[in-house]
Amino acid sequence: MLKRDERCKASASQGVSRRQFLKAGGILTGAAMFIGAGLTACSNDSTSQSSGGTNTQANGKETLISYSVYDTDILIIGTGFGGIGAALEANAKGAKVLMVDKGPFEFSGAAGMNWDQEVTWPNTAPEGITKCSFNDVLANQKLVSNVHQFLGKDAEAWNAALWWVRMGNTTWNRLSNGNFENLISAGSDEGGVGAEAGGVNLVQRGFSRHIQDTLKTQPITIIDNTMITDIFLDNGKCVGAVGYQVQTGEYRVFRSKATIATAGACCQMYGWLDVHPIGMNTPDNTGDVDAAAYRHGVPLVSNEFFGVDLISVHPSSLGASFNAGIGADGNHMQFVCDKDGEFFMRETNAYDVSRPIRDRILAGKGGEHGGVFIDLTSPEALDRTKLRPCYLRNVYMWKEKFNIDVTQSGYRIPVSLECFEHGGAFVIDENCSSSIPGLFGTRGYGLVKGHITQQTFVGAFAGLKAYEYAQDNDVKKVDWTAAEAEISRIDEIRTREVSAGIRPFEIRHKIQNNFYDNWEPATDAAKLQKAIAELERIKKEDLPKQYVADKSATFNRDWKDAIENYNLIDMTEATLRSALMREESRLTFYRTDFPEQDDKNWHVNIYCKLNNGNMELSKSEQVLV
Ligand SMILES: Cc1cc2nc3c(=O)[nH]c(=O)nc-3n(C[C@H](O)[C@H](O)[C@H](O)COP(=O)(O)OP(=O)(O)OC[C@H]3O[C@@H](n4cnc5c(N)ncnc54)[C@H](O)[C@@H]3O)c2cc1C
Repeated sequence: MLKRDERCKASASQGVSRRQFLKAGGILTGAAMFIGAGLTACSNDSTSQSSGGTNTQANGKETLISYSVYDTDILIIGTGFGGIGAALEANAKGAKVLMVDKGPFEFSGAAGMNWDQEVTWPNTAPEGITKCSFNDVLANQKLVSNVHQFLGKDAEAWNAALWWVRMGNTTWNRLSNGNFENLISAGSDEGGVGAEAGGVNLVQRGFSRHIQDTLKTQPITIIDNTMITDIFLDNGKCVGAVGYQVQTGEYRVFRSKATIATAGACCQMYGWLDVHPIGMNTPDNTGDVDAAAYRHGVPLVSNEFFGVDLISVHPSSLGASFNAGIGADGNHMQFVCDKDGEFFMRETNAYDVSRPIRDRILAGKGGEHGGVFIDLTSPEALDRTKLRPCYLRNVYMWKEKFNIDVTQSGYRIPVSLECFEHGGAFVIDENCSSSIPGLFGTRGYGLVKGHITQQTFVGAFAGLKAYEYAQDNDVKKVDWTAAEAEISRIDEIRTREVSAGIRPFEIRHKIQNNFYDNWEPATDAAKLQKAIAELERIKKEDLPKQYVADKSATFNRDWKDAIENYNLIDMTEATLRSALMREESRLTFYRTDFPEQDDKNWHVNIYCKLNNGNMELSKSEQVLV
């Protein structure tokens, strides 16, 4: 049975200890101590003896901070595609699984947008997959191979399809004449979607509600509206995570034998336009857990790579969102035109369409909003086989709700490149493990353009590996100091008093504008150096002055933004520095001073590691093709 947050809290009193510690002048002074007979310790918590304090009340200068502890075998951070894959697999093995999500379950993350998903996966054997752009040549091929063996060695493509169906997805569509159409199209080396890249299979019209519904049939605990701000380390091992309930401000510590981070793609650095970020990924995905792992010494990888699509940017109040915007992606480029009305994408069959669009803008053929246009004035534009339904529905919505008729003669929709996926993530090995024992991930195996099936299947494999790890690692005895230090850190962010302070949203917009202005339509060494210098300035001068206007812990969006800004700055720095190091152009990564792809020197992953407070970069070995 699924337990949402409210019910979980109700059941928490038996299995959850409520701890309290003293805080004086922003510095923790004591170990955890229990208060009151009614608040019981975990029955398996051997560390409870160490707390033993008697002072249950704060004196004048001291503040008591309490937190709840949740115990589980496998903790999964994020209820998106990766998280669901991991949860179902670990649960199927018999593990006690707890998922925690920053947003409301079913409405958070990329998976929270119940859109017309196009799900793709390669139809070739693992060796062939390396040639397929959908799995990307810079990926950790051992992991790619492991995941395919896990799915079923002999028939990768169709086993993947079966998995997808078993997770509740539709592969047939009912037509208006009552007939059915098969939504799976099989690619091959000779033809089909992605044929130029070795062939991929495709299912259209996927809806994430289906896999969420499948999840709900299982005895998996889901605690939503809870933001993880740090991983919880004890003796060099990951023993869970720390965070707080974003509506109530309650601090929460999750203790787990194994932890899987699936907190999505950090796209929020990409830019800001009037009222929204220039990206269709959820604003909640701010690289929190990747940045946390980075701060604990795990390298980040593939930060310089984004997945980009076109989305409407004017009127800006309707723009840059999958749910309200009108756009075009890699498969729907025939309506894209430049400022002279030339449909320059009609002959393009490249999967990565950003390059011709950027070249057109650089040639002065873009529009006043920085991008190009979509022209939907021809009758064929309203054919749902031509224009993806998630965009088509908004053509009608714009007209009905806002009286904007984009089909009327002469109307061109200003669209811009936005980012829906980011490669940046903490590094994982071929078993989805990070360099910290007990911490697993689903994204950090090298360049990822982010496909649902990929995340779900890698997630499932991570679920298996985390389950195996958990068999030999119990966490009955843990030292709570690190968790309490993290609570203290985020508490200080909320309560900080500064004169002439800067609000979190102002800093956020500075990060976004600095990035976008130096990244689009293409970047180069001078722009990247400028952007890094400004980011350094923001970090040194602005961030210490960041203050949360309202000190309340309840429904405090400012506080959440403020915590996220620390993470976003680290992820942005990793992105800019990796971009400066990579002296070539590849896929969506475009430097005008190095416009060609250079496999000889740059068929490598770039790692960013924290060393003595500095971000250090290194190249991986040449990745085999
Ligand atoms: C608009 C859009 C359209 C796309 N279209 C397609 C498509 O058609 N086909 C395709 O294959 N791929 C598509 N993608 C890419 C695909 O959706 C992603 O690759 C995939 O969803 C990533 O899965 P994930 O589990 O890593 O992240 P998500 O599904 O985003 O899940 C991450 C979860 O982590 C949670 N989280 C974040 N931070 C924290 C924190 N600090 N604490 C706790 N929880 C946290 C989030 O709330 C979220 O629920 C699209 C993406 C977007 C944004």
